[in-house]
Amino acid sequence: MYTSLLVRYGEISLKGNNRPYFEDKLMDNIRRALAGLTPRKMRKTFGRIFIDLHDDLQAVTARLQRVFGIVSMSPVVAVPLELEAIKKAALAVLKDSPGTTFKVQAQRPNKRFPLTSPEINREVGAYLLTHSQGQQVDVHHPDRIIHVEIRDEGAYVYSRTIPGPGGLPVGVTGRGLLLISGGIDSPVAGYMGMKRGLELTGLHFHSFPFTSERSKEKVIDLCRVLATYCGPFRLVVAPFTSIQKAIRQHCPEEFYVTIMRRMMFRIAGAVAGKENALALLTGESLGQVASQTLQSMAVINRVVDLPVLRPLVAWDKSEIIEVARRIGTYDISIRPYEDCCTLFVPKHPATKPPLARVEAAEKNLATEALLAECLEKLETIVVEAESAGI
Ligand code: ATP
Ligand code: MG
Repeated sequence: MYTSLLVRYGEISLKGNNRPYFEDKLMDNIRRALAGLTPRKMRKTFGRIFIDLHDDLQAVTARLQRVFGIVSMSPVVAVPLELEAIKKAALAVLKDSPGTTFKVQAQRPNKRFPLTSPEINREVGAYLLTHSQGQQVDVHHPDRIIHVEIRDEGAYVYSRTIPGPGGLPVGVTGRGLLLISGGIDSPVAGYMGMKRGLELTGLHFHSFPFTSERSKEKVIDLCRVLATYCGPFRLVVAPFTSIQKAIRQHCPEEFYVTIMRRMMFRIAGAVAGKENALALLTGESLGQVASQTLQSMAVINRVVDLPVLRPLVAWDKSEIIEVARRIGTYDISIRPYEDCCTLFVPKHPATKPPLARVEAAEKNLATEALLAECLEKLETIVVEAESAGI
């Protein structure tokens, strides 16, 4: 019965001169999300988007719930500018949403329509009362509002509002490089970054054979979930074994983690340059583990010029887990495969690593050669969304 989906996008209409760019991105992202379904028309009008439906409301809304920038959606019945047609549509819409009370709320930007908004409300309301059972009008707290919009091209009738994911369209705020492990936190950090409009490339450090092929598969599976929000996801896999071996051989145990993370950040800085990424993103949260104290972060951060975004910095683990479950990464993250970090965690990692001592310890490494070797062997994988059905 619904002929189209009305899509609202609040925040982006606030962004002044950028508005057409934001809207075009959102339209592109919607088109990409709907690829594979029946081709359909879409049009942008008065700060909203109308998308034709072909009896596939469920499939379309399920996909659009993963398109950032969409605030809400309403399935609408479009009818010609005739009162009889409007009344019938209103009755169908009333029957499709649960409740026992309603009110009709008309808007009439098209002033050529012969009835005023209060007249439409009265006429349509009376029709609904006589053609439905057990329904009452409640103008103050109705179970549902039957909206009637009278526009130049026709009338739209709708009631239900389905929430969208909010945020900004992926791509409008630039590209970031997400350091993604197989853990719970980094995929959530990526999700939050995408929600603020970042397009991401992933970077994963892999320590074969200390970490298995299956731990790499796990990261690819996480990227598959992220790809449902942004389309095909570029994942760069960096071989990290030689670097970890060198650290183990030449550096004091208490600084393993700090030095390992400084090496990760150096590589990330170089990969970001290649990928045109303007920031790094990590799943770090303040105080969660030894390398995530402010002192550690400061010492680790020194090796890169790029801003390091930590979307989860102030989140509790329980809050992170809640989002991980909601977005569908949690069950993958808890698969028991090893990560390169967990393998090299010493018994007593320094929580306040002094910069001078870390730098002195690093002198024992052939840093430049190790970095060059890693950067030469990068592997890039383009990961598609987890299933075409989403
Ligand atoms: P996560 O759940 O994301 O693994 P964590 O609590 O295990 O986080 P750490 O292992 O200290 O935290 O890692 C902190 C951050 O460093 C991660 O969120 C991620 O951004 C990055 N990181 C850790 N290991 C890797 C890896 N193997 N490849 C890429 N990035 C990594
Ligand atoms: Mg981890």
